[in-house]
Amino acid sequence: MVVESKKALKWLLEGNKDYIDAKRNHKGDISKEKRLHTHQHGQNPYAVVICCSDSRVIPENIFMAGIGDLFVIRLAGNVVGDFALGSIEYAVSHLNTKLVLVMGHTMCGAIHSAIIDHHESFISSIINEIQSCIGDCKDNTIASILNVKNTINKIKKSEIINELLENDVKIVGSIYHTHSGEVEILK
Ligand SMILES: [Zn+2]
Repeated sequence: MVVESKKALKWLLEGNKDYIDAKRNHKGDISKEKRLHTHQHGQNPYAVVICCSDSRVIPENIFMAGIGDLFVIRLAGNVVGDFALGSIEYAVSHLNTKLVLVMGHTMCGAIHSAIIDHHESFISSIINEIQSCIGDCKDNTIASILNVKNTINKIKKSEIINELLENDVKIVGSIYHTHSGEVEILK
């Protein structure tokens, strides 16, 4: 079942509302039935989520999503390179996912490292990418927002995704608040 982008964003935000007040229960469908159904019939995830690898940022929980619901790409600092872009292209062009959500977060260590100009081995490639878009910004949250916008611009450089943007595919930027659990949609 293909889910239109507007409905997908509504489902994500409804799930996020449940998450904010959740105890230990998980509302996404992770039942044996769902597992067997998706095993047999394949996946139609209703959203692609690009977010940080940070262990506090758990998209399936944040949106109370289950098996087959989200196509998730996680990299420190939610930066995207060729492999990540290929994954997003696959989801929107082969799995018909209409919503691409880029989700930065508060208190991000990758953003902090970019602000204090920390460079080390392979981590440098992530830091360089973040520094290319945050300029002299020293505020972690504002820098996270600038970084989300940079990731969105990178995704839009994909020809496949750009063509699909005219065909109901939407890219939405957001920030996850690590203290409240709330996902704030960026304008
Ligand atoms: Zn992070």
